[in-house]
Amino acid sequence: MNREGFWSVSDVLNHIYCPWITYHWYVLNVPQSKTIKTEEGLRQQNEYVRKVRKHPERGVGGVKGAKFVSERLLRSKRLMLAGKCDYVVYPNGTSCPLEIKNMKIPPGKPYKNTLIQLTCYAIMLEEEIANQVDTAYIHYLKDGLTQKVSIAKENKKYIEDIIKQMDSVLEKEIVNGKPMSWRCCWDCCYLKICALGGGS
Ligand code: SF4
Repeated sequence: MNREGFWSVSDVLNHIYCPWITYHWYVLNVPQSKTIKTEEGLRQQNEYVRKVRKHPERGVGGVKGAKFVSERLLRSKRLMLAGKCDYVVYPNGTSCPLEIKNMKIPPGKPYKNTLIQLTCYAIMLEEEIANQVDTAYIHYLKDGLTQKVSIAKENKKYIEDIIKQMDSVLEKEIVNGKPMSWRCCWDCCYLKICALGGGS
């Protein structure tokens, strides 16, 4: 959450991972230790960003005809959610968020966390431009492939419900829920202070 009280996209991801993280961080005021991107991952991402800057005419991730705004700060005042997606691209004149991932394209659907991130950005972008945003892209650095993703109404509703739960933790100081799996507790920075840690 930032100083103005906007939830971040990481807060949403954390809450889905375990709602007790929201409680420890924002009710008990114990910040989570930072997750740091590996140096190699960061280097490759920066290298890609540099290439895009050098050849903006190529667009991003091969999205044809894209103009782009890099590292765009987006906000939803309705949900009090803010975040920076890697790029906003404009294929066919429509605005779509695009995320860069330092991995190979997964077989089949994108990973759940990536879809959650893109759904958050789609919701924010939608509010900002007052137009529906139903498409997003993921560009995978390790194989240079780009995946087009549909952001369905149900995905957006799911995120809105999660943010309502987060608001409720903050307002009522009560948590309803447990981690996605008890394995989440194994390397959780709150394990030592968490009443629920490991299912105990
Ligand atoms: S220790 Fe487990 S239950 Fe507690 S915050 Fe961490 S993941 Fe959630």
